[in-house]
Amino acid sequence: MSMPAEFGSMVFSDSVMQQRLPHDTYRALKRILSEGASLNRDIADIIANAMKDWALEKGATHFTHWFQPMTGVTAEKHDSFIRPIGDKVIMEFSGKELIKGESDASSFPSGGLRATFEARGYTAWDPTSYAFIKDKTLCIPTAFCSYTGEALDKKTPLLRSMELISSQAARIVRLFGKDCERVTPTVGAEQEYFLIDREMYEKRPDLIYTGRTLIGCQPSKGQELDDHFFGALKTRVAAFMRELDEELWRLGIPAKTRHNEVAPGQHELAPVFETVNVAVDHNQLTMEIMKKVAARHGMVCLLHEKPFEGVNGSGKHNNWSLVTDSGTNLLDPGDNPMDNLQFLLVLCAVVRAVDMHQDLLRIAVSSAGNDHRLGGFEAPPSIMSMYLGDELEGVLASIKSGEAYDKIEKSYINSGVHSLSRVRRDTTDRNRTSPFAFTGNKFEFRSVGSSFSISDANVIINTIVADQLEQFADQLEMAEKDNFKNTVMRLIREIIVRHDRIIFNGNNYSPEWPEEARKRGLVILPSTVEALNEFTSEKNIDLFTRHAIFSENEMHSRREVMLENYAKVVNIEALTMLDMVKRNVLPVVIRESKALSDSAKVKLEIGIPADVEIRLATELSRKAEDILKKCDLLQAAQQHASALGFSAASAREYRYEVLNDMRLLRNTVDETEKLVDESKWPYPSYGQLLFSVL
Ligand code: ADP
Ligand code: MG
Repeated sequence: MSMPAEFGSMVFSDSVMQQRLPHDTYRALKRILSEGASLNRDIADIIANAMKDWALEKGATHFTHWFQPMTGVTAEKHDSFIRPIGDKVIMEFSGKELIKGESDASSFPSGGLRATFEARGYTAWDPTSYAFIKDKTLCIPTAFCSYTGEALDKKTPLLRSMELISSQAARIVRLFGKDCERVTPTVGAEQEYFLIDREMYEKRPDLIYTGRTLIGCQPSKGQELDDHFFGALKTRVAAFMRELDEELWRLGIPAKTRHNEVAPGQHELAPVFETVNVAVDHNQLTMEIMKKVAARHGMVCLLHEKPFEGVNGSGKHNNWSLVTDSGTNLLDPGDNPMDNLQFLLVLCAVVRAVDMHQDLLRIAVSSAGNDHRLGGFEAPPSIMSMYLGDELEGVLASIKSGEAYDKIEKSYINSGVHSLSRVRRDTTDRNRTSPFAFTGNKFEFRSVGSSFSISDANVIINTIVADQLEQFADQLEMAEKDNFKNTVMRLIREIIVRHDRIIFNGNNYSPEWPEEARKRGLVILPSTVEALNEFTSEKNIDLFTRHAIFSENEMHSRREVMLENYAKVVNIEALTMLDMVKRNVLPVVIRESKALSDSAKVKLEIGIPADVEIRLATELSRKAEDILKKCDLLQAAQQHASALGFSAASAREYRYEVLNDMRLLRNTVDETEKLVDESKWPYPSYGQLLFSVL
């Protein structure tokens, strides 16, 4: 691949449009994009035709409206461009086909929004995210909604939240005397994943059906030597990463950083940040392409949040900031944050938003999979708090106390070697344990799960921050001009006094933190089930409906979809586990125990002591009994929960009964694995899985 020429070669990008569209059409489209005007059919026809010609030259034969239903993965239905004329065909693509599609929506989750009798769903072109070619198909990013206009997807609310924060943040910037029409949220999502060998994967029904291992005892080597993080890449992994980067680059996805992560077999990819809507689309594509490329290299890419117990899980760090139409990053503190009132005000909006809506941020990262990760020793806890770093905390503390601010001077790191160039020390260190950390000129939300669409988290961040900015702007627009600075300062101080409980610099993994958080009155929602129940609280319905991000109906439907998904996921896990244990583990344990007692019998008959065989056979026989007993318990719990249907009530049963019985069964099975001849155990071990890629 030749770079930079081939970057974005599969994208109907701005420069392609500029080249291929008549000048008037191009200008009209740009106007539509910047002013949000709507598109007329004539323009749509011209654009569609240019898109088709371009796509045909690139070898495409089909087009699809590419959308993001509430499943969290993308959906597509392909139509070819052909129109038969006599015994020949012509290739056609109209403006109508570009801007609107109709799709049977009844098989996508809607949480009751769309009954089957009105199963029509519509997809509508989102011209703010470029069309692209994948698998010889022209993919048109679209939003997906019902006949009555209710959002059935993850893109529609995101676009709504972008418009909201744009208008509110622009008001703030204008208050500081600058021209500003638009403000855009920017996002860079760091993606973690595991790679394992395909052959091993195929022997594990739990990985195939659920994405995570449901049984498996700890290997003698895990991640304790810290020898994998940033380690040299194995040949197969390096080849995978190279091909992945190239595929992503062709699609205009700015993949930038790649490295090994902490756990064996774990890696990370980070792109350069983009407008949030594009970043969401690109992250969805990245996940899809990771899986495809891995398959070509005889591997499987696991995106589950916790594929293996005892080693780190995978997350997605959502780096978020705001940029104005003239290119200013509103979260850039500059050299003197103490004097940068606009920055401090936006910072305070984020602080207050996070403190007031801890529940929503917790909800944004809720799923059956991520529950296994949040609160693990390597991942942020399910309690939300913020880290700002020494410098900003110093600034805020001095505003709070009214005492003069002691500026942290820029300093240089002394490596003790003269030939090394001087490295300036950052004024903030890192706190890797914080769920919501300020990292110099952006906030990094670390709790998002690796398999998630990052849309939900950003809808929530955009909305809660915009809500604060709106309140600030309402207040400040009333303030007298000569007194503006003082009014801003007073507002900032008030926010710090009232909301600094959300700021926590310490170790979020420490056992003392939950106790401390409780004392501070922070919100503690231990699992997805408790979290999702809060989604439709009065406060939240008021927030989202007031800003027209979600209607009340849409909120109930989303909560329903997520709880249903939770119950279904745990149900599949329970059934898979029972199947694996009863049909494969248990017979092996019984056979092994019998083989040992048979051999003891033979030995004893000819007068050789058989204490070892007898002891092991007895132990295995007891384990078999124990396993069967725990299978019965799990089965009863699963049947009880599934009888309740997949709903809020059953989600609670799955969380507190089924998952608990799965844990008990797993413990016994894992103890048993350690007693059985490795060659007889029916499934590849953790050691084989984690160290399978050479
Ligand atoms: P760090 O060292 O803090 O992890 P990086 O520069 O490696 O910072 O960035 C991590 C991610 O954050 C990358 O995806 C990067 O593009 C993204 N990022 C950097 N600046 C911004 C910004 N202003 N807005 C959103 N994301 C950003
Ligand atoms: Mg990071």
